[in-house]
Order: sequence, then C-alpha cells, then structure tokens
Amino acid sequence: MTTPLRIAVLGSTGSIGRQTLDVASRYPERVQIVALAAHSSVDLLIEQARQHRPEIVALADTAAAARAASALPGTEVGSGTEAVEALATLSGVDLVVNALVGAAGLHVTVATLIAGKTLALANKESLVVGGSLVTSLASPGQMIPVDSEHSAIYQCLLGEHADDVAKIWLTASGGPFRGQSRAQLECVNATQALAHPTWNMGPKITIDSATLMNKGLEVIEAHHLFGTDYDQIRVVVHPQSCVHSMVEFSDGSVKAHLGATDMRIPIEFALSQPRRWDAPLAPVDFTTLGSLDFEPPDYETFRCLSIAFQAGRTGGTAPAIMNAANEVAVAAFLDGRCGFLDIERIVETTLDRHSAEPLESIEQVEAVDAGARETATGLLL
Ligand code: NDP
Ligand code: MG
Repeated sequence: MTTPLRIAVLGSTGSIGRQTLDVASRYPERVQIVALAAHSSVDLLIEQARQHRPEIVALADTAAAARAASALPGTEVGSGTEAVEALATLSGVDLVVNALVGAAGLHVTVATLIAGKTLALANKESLVVGGSLVTSLASPGQMIPVDSEHSAIYQCLLGEHADDVAKIWLTASGGPFRGQSRAQLECVNATQALAHPTWNMGPKITIDSATLMNKGLEVIEAHHLFGTDYDQIRVVVHPQSCVHSMVEFSDGSVKAHLGATDMRIPIEFALSQPRRWDAPLAPVDFTTLGSLDFEPPDYETFRCLSIAFQAGRTGGTAPAIMNAANEVAVAAFLDGRCGFLDIERIVETTLDRHSAEPLESIEQVEAVDAGARETATGLLL
C-alpha cells in the first residue's frame, strides 16, 4: 500500500475547495487532508474540519478563527492571513491546493513554491499578477494547473516537445451574454451575469466569465504556465464546453482534451497525475454528443478580452494593474454599485493612469496592486 498524498486545501470553503474535498473523500486511502483554510466562512470550515479531521486549520478573519478555535478542541487553529500562508509550508504537506480567489492568493503560491511543495493551482490571479516572479520559483512539474483549460493543455502537452507547439487554442463558453449587443449589456444585472450556461463557480470568476475577463486572465495564465508567446495563443468560443482546450503542433496536428463539464476532473488529475483515478461522472458518449460549435470571440463587444491580451503583451506590472482594477470593479458590480460595462471602463482607465514597470519583487507587485485598487475605487465614486 502506498502512503497517501498529504494535502492542504486553502480556500476550502469555496467552489474549488469544496469540490477538492469531494474528490478527496472518494479516495481516503490515497488522499489525506492535513490542513484547511478559508477567509471567514467559519461554520462551513468547522463542518469540513469535523468531517476531514485535518491537523490544523486557519482563517484569515481573526474573529472567525476565534470561533473555530472554541468549536474545534484538539485541532490547531491559525488566525490571520499569515497563518493561512503558513499552511503552505507545513512539513507534513506534500501538495497545496491554492483555491483562494483573487490576488490574495499570491502569497500562498509563492510560499508553496519556495517550500518545494507541489502546487495545484486554481488561483490563476497569482500567476497573472506575479508572472515571471512566480514561474522563476517553480521547478519543472511543480505547478499543476487546476483551471480546466490549462489542465487540458497540460495533458495535451504530455510527451511532446515544447519546440513543436505551434498554437494553443483556449476554448471559452462565451458566458451568459454570448451574442448580445453592447446596448443590451448596458442593462444587465448581477443575477443575470451569475447565471453561467455551463459551469457552476464562485461569484468572482462567474462575473469574469460573463465579461470574458476570465478568458483574458487565462490567456496570461497560459503564457506563463507553458511559456507560449501571445501570438501563439488563440481564443475560440465553444458554447458546449466539451472540448476543454487544444494544442496545435508544427505539423498541423491538433490534440484536444474532451470530458465532462465538471471541475472535479481537473482537480482529481492535479492530485492523481501522472496517473489517473476513476471518476463517478458520465464519460463523453460520441454517439449522442451531437454537434460541437466553434466561433471567434467578439472582441468589440467583450472588450475585457482585448484589454487582457494587451496587458499581457505589455507585461511587467500591467497585468497586476488590470487584475486589481478588475477585482474592485467586479466586487462593485456584484454589490450593485456599478454597471456591467463599467467593469471594462474601470479596468481600462486604471491601466491608462498607471504606467507598467518591469517586474522586480513581490513587494513591488503588492504596492502596484494597492495603488491600482485605490484608483479603481476612486473611479466608482
Ligand atoms: P470562491 O469565491 O467560491 O472561493 C474562494 C475561497 O477562497 C473561499 O474558501 C474563501 O473563503 C477563500 N478566501 C478568499 N480570500 C481569502 C483570504 N484572503 N485568505 C484565505 N482564504 C480566502 O472561488 P472559486 O472557488 O470559484 O475560485 C477560486 C479560484 O479558482 C479563483 O482564482 C478562480 O479563478 C479559480 N477557478 C475557479 C473555478 C471554479 O469552477 N470555481 C474554475 C477555474 C478556476 P471564505 O469562504 O471564507 O470567503
Ligand atoms: Mg477556466
């Protein structure tokens, strides 16, 4: 019998975190939950701790941590953001699932890589803002993507030579507003934007999917994960979300990854790789699948995708500025404090007001992030 993989699930109360625990609970002999962390969802974290019996949990919110400490005698409870990050470096942890949302995940990514643990990366924002500062810390095979498109690309690249890659085709569902005009988008509200046609995810990424900023973040994520030039990354709208992404090689051959539209598959692969485990999901049945559609994205209507390509090409701190403004604008849209198209306006204006600098340090990225948030917040007033 092999020893189980010992994992820390950071962001365990969110969409990816809960699905990670669901995968782990199916393989108790293969996966051991050593640590759990969240921001402030204390009731759910307590429930998860009682079920999965981690050695240690942490909550970024200190009041929530105090409540967890009294509810979980016998479990070590950390309090504050540093306690959350410290879980990534525990000696008893082999693999860290970074399922935090937003640039808040940067420290977890950095700490995990420095500690030499395998990083199952859902938190794409940390790679977008940290860019080469993050990739320079990772040894080959240390960073395993959880994002479905990047997991698909990672799998298509297994056994291939990087020099033979001609293009990466990133598939996009198109979100709930595919085919709509800008006049229609002026009037949409958060409830409509949260109704994603194919994926059930946390609120921030669901809004990013509606604006296509999510695909923009994923373009930058793919650039850093696979070392692919922006000219070699193409986005294609594929409303069925059955093809999770594709890689085209120098001879014109294309490998595609297909599967159920369920994040538990890429999460499970991040834990099982290079092997595969069973999954209780219906496989693709090509006899009943029907047609698969592909169309170009509408860059004019969904400007966030063009803005992200541009920020990626500019490089340096531009993606961090863009990401910070986007986080502020998405939070405001979810609260009804701005309109849907204000998201791209706030992101674009914030990028105009801050000049990008070459990346130097994590501290610099944090300062840039804070400055961009201040500008974006000012634009909301
Ligand atoms: P959710 O909003 O559902 O969950 C976010 C999790 O992070 C929660 O557990 C939250 O805790 C925790 N968290 C947030 N901030 C902090 C902090 N400062 N310290 C500690 N914990 C924190 O997000 P998702 O699960 O949807 O997304 C997570 C990441 O995965 C994102 O980067 C997203 O882009 C990416 N992703 C998600 C997919 C999906 O299907 N959901 C698909 C592909 C990528 P609390 O509950 O206490 O607030
Ligand atoms: Mg994705």
